[in-house]
Amino acid sequence: MERTLVKDTINKVGQTVTLKGWVNTKRDHSKIVFVDLRDRTGLIQIVGTGELLGSLKLEDVVSLKGLVKARPEKMINPELATGTVEIEALDLTVLSHSAELPIDMSKETLEVELPTLLDYRALSFRHPKIQAIFKVQAVVIDAFRKALMAKDFLEFQAPSIINAVPEGGSEVFKVDYFDHQAYLSQSPQLYKSLLTTAFERVFSVNQIFRAEPSATTRHLTEVTSLDAEFNFIDSVEEVLDMEEYVVRFIFKEVEERCAKELALFDATTPLMSEKFPIIKLRDAQEIIFQRTGRDCRTEKDLAPDDEREICAWAKEEKGSDLVFVSHFLTKKKPFYVYPDPANPEYAFSIDLLCRGVEWSSGGQRLHDYESILKNVHEWGLKEEEVALYLQAFKFGSPPLGGFALGAERITMYILGLKNVREASMFPRDMERIDVRLSTTKQ
Ligand code: ATP
Ligand code: MG
Repeated sequence: MERTLVKDTINKVGQTVTLKGWVNTKRDHSKIVFVDLRDRTGLIQIVGTGELLGSLKLEDVVSLKGLVKARPEKMINPELATGTVEIEALDLTVLSHSAELPIDMSKETLEVELPTLLDYRALSFRHPKIQAIFKVQAVVIDAFRKALMAKDFLEFQAPSIINAVPEGGSEVFKVDYFDHQAYLSQSPQLYKSLLTTAFERVFSVNQIFRAEPSATTRHLTEVTSLDAEFNFIDSVEEVLDMEEYVVRFIFKEVEERCAKELALFDATTPLMSEKFPIIKLRDAQEIIFQRTGRDCRTEKDLAPDDEREICAWAKEEKGSDLVFVSHFLTKKKPFYVYPDPANPEYAFSIDLLCRGVEWSSGGQRLHDYESILKNVHEWGLKEEEVALYLQAFKFGSPPLGGFALGAERITMYILGLKNVREASMFPRDMERIDVRLSTTKQ
């Protein structure tokens, strides 16, 4: 008999159906047994005899023939999408047996520490709250794509193996590449920029790699980067406008498509003012000093406390969870950064912060070949390290800019997760590549 999905049972009262799924929960009253069966569309209550259902274990996979019955009024479960019906079990085949569960999956929120949860990652994916995280993430990524495709951007696949690290070498993984040294890409930056010189507007969704030597709650060693780059810009504001459009689009899609998931986390999308506020780094540092007495006014970057403080300021003073911070120090940024002609010490380099943390970096890039070449030398790079990049700009390039958002950070801060590892299906860090590395050491 053809499989009926759990969600469709509500329209099949009086019919005999075949359901396939996992035993989510079981209440055994010996003669009569209640099972909640789970498939990808939800849960449904099954009622059957002890003889038929009694030996079932949690997470066993079954094919079950049963009669769809309307529940009496007072037995309706408003918490369950299928709460108006239940299935009277008629016949059962166990397709696969589950081992005994190492963690209690019946809790509304899994009550295990994160390392344990990650030790049982494959199992944890079966929990509704864990599934909700990745549903939201899938919508974030889909919305990123949709927003840019609607603006005529072309998607490209950025390479992961690179032959040099002209963006700075401190956080890079080395790869044995036959007789050569290669690296894992920290960012598709150079590729997306050079592609604009042919395609004008490009974006990519791909993994980037950072050998982050510290264990923070917001750093992974493998990240899903949402990158966009485009040219024929008249000013850096066009880059900000595009990023703001994309971020608003993402929030709208998440609101429309993930209401249930947001509710599970008691989460709302970030507060937005009519336009995202923008503030220069030095002005932000002055405000932080005024507000807290902490003097970071000569620092080259915002420390985590500073990011939190400037977000608090934006919320209080501008009614926005989001804030752009611009004008980082030119010399502290990669060679392609575009200095502000009004004060070349600072650059059109712009971070987007939200809910206390950096979500993205972007800005305008140099497009003039001679200026790029000059910086390559000034930054102490070898021309051959950036040969392909130089080639792109040697043959003519309009003014360009772009931005990169971290998919895990967005997911984490939309849902209010405590650790970015929760927002990665398979988080990698210093201690873990699927399993705890201490357990695999020779
Ligand atoms: P941070 O200062 O927070 O370490 P970054 O400035 O090194 O970030 P960028 O190189 O600007 O990061 O990368 C662009 C975006 O990619 C970041 O704003 C963030 O959303 C995401 N990202 C970068 N590195 C990581 C990481 N190690 N783990 C998770 N997300 C990251
Ligand atoms: Mg950054």
